[in-house]
Amino acid sequence: MTELDVAQEFAYAPAPESRALVRIRDEYGLFIGGEFVEGTGEPFATVDPATEERLATVATASAADVDRAVQAARAAHNRVWGPMPGAERAKYLFRLARILQERARELAVLESIDNGKPIRESRDVDVPLAAAHFFYHAGWADKLGYAGLGADPKPLGVAGQVIPWNFPLLMLSWKIAPALACGNTVVLKPAETTPLTALLFAEICQQADLPAGVVNIVTGAGDTGRSLISHPDVDKVAFTGSTEVGRSIAQTVAGTSKKVTLELGGKAANIVFADSPVDQAVEGIVNGIFFNQGHVCCAGSRLLVEESVHDEVIERLQQRMGTLRVGDPLDKNTDIGAINSAEQLAKIRRLSAVGEAEGAQRWSPACQLPERGYFFAPTLFTGVSQAHRIAREEIFGPVLSVLTFRTPDEAVAKANNTPYGLSAGVWTEKGSRILWMAARLKAGVVWANTFNRFDPASPFGGYKESGYGREGGRHGLAGYLRPSPGGASPAGAGVRA
Ligand code: NAP
Ligand code: MG
Repeated sequence: MTELDVAQEFAYAPAPESRALVRIRDEYGLFIGGEFVEGTGEPFATVDPATEERLATVATASAADVDRAVQAARAAHNRVWGPMPGAERAKYLFRLARILQERARELAVLESIDNGKPIRESRDVDVPLAAAHFFYHAGWADKLGYAGLGADPKPLGVAGQVIPWNFPLLMLSWKIAPALACGNTVVLKPAETTPLTALLFAEICQQADLPAGVVNIVTGAGDTGRSLISHPDVDKVAFTGSTEVGRSIAQTVAGTSKKVTLELGGKAANIVFADSPVDQAVEGIVNGIFFNQGHVCCAGSRLLVEESVHDEVIERLQQRMGTLRVGDPLDKNTDIGAINSAEQLAKIRRLSAVGEAEGAQRWSPACQLPERGYFFAPTLFTGVSQAHRIAREEIFGPVLSVLTFRTPDEAVAKANNTPYGLSAGVWTEKGSRILWMAARLKAGVVWANTFNRFDPASPFGGYKESGYGREGGRHGLAGYLRPSPGGASPAGAGVRA
């Protein structure tokens, strides 16, 4: 019996999480001034990418609706949230964190349905980390004088925040928790394909008795985002998304007094030295590129492997990829769920075809994809050169490009040979080599013998075309505070346009 036969003999029975844990409404409005209101734009549908079924109709915020939301945020900032002592704000943040924990299963199921990510990940990563961000920032709210920004730093005012679809609730938390802790109020636009957990979060704000207007959620597509970031009464723009849109946002806010942070794309190198523990490295490679279907800005999408162990690493990687289960996101045994949208699936297919046409060798394990829904098999490209598009462009899908190197200098040169600079991984048993590499890699985060690890206390952000400013930790606070006299901004903590 071959290994594959054994896997088939002992196949897992389906283990779906219950959809009954969530109640999806047929229609959703905008959340402005503490209430759900109708939008005046053309409503849109959000779908379940695993089934292609329409889930709900969601309001689009027009420029006039965005204006109403910004006014509500301004009023809440001036009257309630700005003057409130930090210790009082902290209580609300703790309350939000606890409700996120209490409603964790509901949030995880809703996220998996709207986004397509496996329930194992939404349940064990997205939702716990979202709650952790609120807990962490609740702790800061009354200690801002110790953030390195002077004894009495002040909030900026109203933050306009725009987030992508890959970690909808988690990106919301990265944005909202520090903004509120620092005394700002927010207007947030979730991505068009994944608005539902942000709208559930709006209900959670009501449940927590958060003062009206402190958090406002405006749904819609790119136009709604554009209205928000260009609104004259927005003091701070926080954007996570593609480098292309980030660039246009930087142009829009240039010359204004708005403060900006941009968290953009990436093409991270995951670097495996010959002395690394190979089995651990293989787990790290898999986690680095197949976690969240590869829809991860800091995904380890370029594997740089030392030439002498290339064949061994690839063989073990292929064995491991053969055990990945692709399918129903709500099944607790699923490793790789659905691609978020038909457009994203088309992009992944297009770039993978380019990889083949340019001469790289394509491989995927035998795996049966569901007939309906947007699915893509985990894919490996070997024989990739630095000039190939699959080594340069962000694919944002479960596709790994493998390159080789012979010396640490060559590994650094190849890793840094990209317009991006968000993250990198190093696998080696030598601590001195880890430090040597970390000092030379132009990446905001360098993981050593691990990958895709996040913590609210650790600043996250990019170099070069991966953006500027940091989120998380003390550095992240600087993006939402005006230093008081004598207070210096921690290095790299956000720039003024
Ligand atoms: P995207 O197309 O840039 O969209 C991001 C958000 O911006 C969405 O809410 C989008 O709305 C909105 N938007 C689109 N055009 C806009 C405009 N002209 N003005 C203002 N807002 C606009 O990116 P995406 O495809 O959703 O997300 C994938 C990208 O995000 C990848 O490049 C990934 O690397 C990056 N990302 C970066 C980080 C990080 O921390 N550095 C984290 C996660 C993802 P609609 O979706 O409704 O069109
Ligand atoms: Mg959806």
